Amino acid sequence: MLSLFKPQLRAEMTALRQIERMGFRAADVRDIVLTHLDFQQAGGLDDFPRARVHLLMNERDHAFAQKTWLDRQRYRPQQWSTRNRWVVYDPEAGGEPWMGLQSVRALVGLPPEILILPLAGHTRGHAGVAVHGLTGWHLHAGDAFHDPRELNTKPRNRLGLRMLQSFMAVDGRARADNTRRLRELHRHHPDITIFCSHDAASFERLSGRAADTLPDAVAWSARDPYAEKIVRRPMEAAPSGPLGVPGLEVTEHESDALDFEPVPFRRDDTAHPRQ
Ligand SMILES: [Zn+2]
Repeated sequence: MLSLFKPQLRAEMTALRQIERMGFRAADVRDIVLTHLDFQQAGGLDDFPRARVHLLMNERDHAFAQKTWLDRQRYRPQQWSTRNRWVVYDPEAGGEPWMGLQSVRALVGLPPEILILPLAGHTRGHAGVAVHGLTGWHLHAGDAFHDPRELNTKPRNRLGLRMLQSFMAVDGRARADNTRRLRELHRHHPDITIFCSHDAASFERLSGRAADTLPDAVAWSARDPYAEKIVRRPMEAAPSGPLGVPGLEVTEHESDALDFEPVPFRRDDTAHPRQ
């Protein structure tokens, strides 16, 4: 299945190496908001052992259950060493309307400019992630669609992507319903930037660089990446404990004291070798 997606397998292209290139460290990544647990999306989680991972409850439960052949191909338990730091949300248990979409949730310990919303179909607990930044709302729709032209008034989709989409979708009707909702969202709120995971053209337009190139390296001496997000404190006033970085405190994480329990997971993955 890996060969279907032709991923870049160069170490310097991993999220960790790119973040380091921009002057940060793995430990600076405190929160990861995940659209779903397919192995392409979850592959880098273990590189950020201090991050809380936010995702929908359904997604975690279906990934753990490994009920179907497709689930066993797409979900890789060996990528889940941080599962005791996953924070899950049940859209059935609450949420609010947002721009015409339902069951939208703010995230524990994060500002209200970051939201998670259910977009099931590709997987049972697939989510979109909305972020309000300097240029307005951006909605990362994950694998809810694969061809951005699906959001056009007259939707289009390349044949190959259409086949891949229906092969990978666990619920074709839910996927189609959610694509229709995203199309409506785009029609009523064209100012919201909606993009998906596997669309290099959108990535290049939004990031300003080619998809197969690295971000500009940031020299520590030229720009201190902590200046904007970290409050420096004298060493003696620094919080101690496993999550504290001596002398530093991340301003947006005043309360990092979530109660994490070990999450058992027993399936023997050797019964389902990689393709
Ligand atoms: Zn996927």
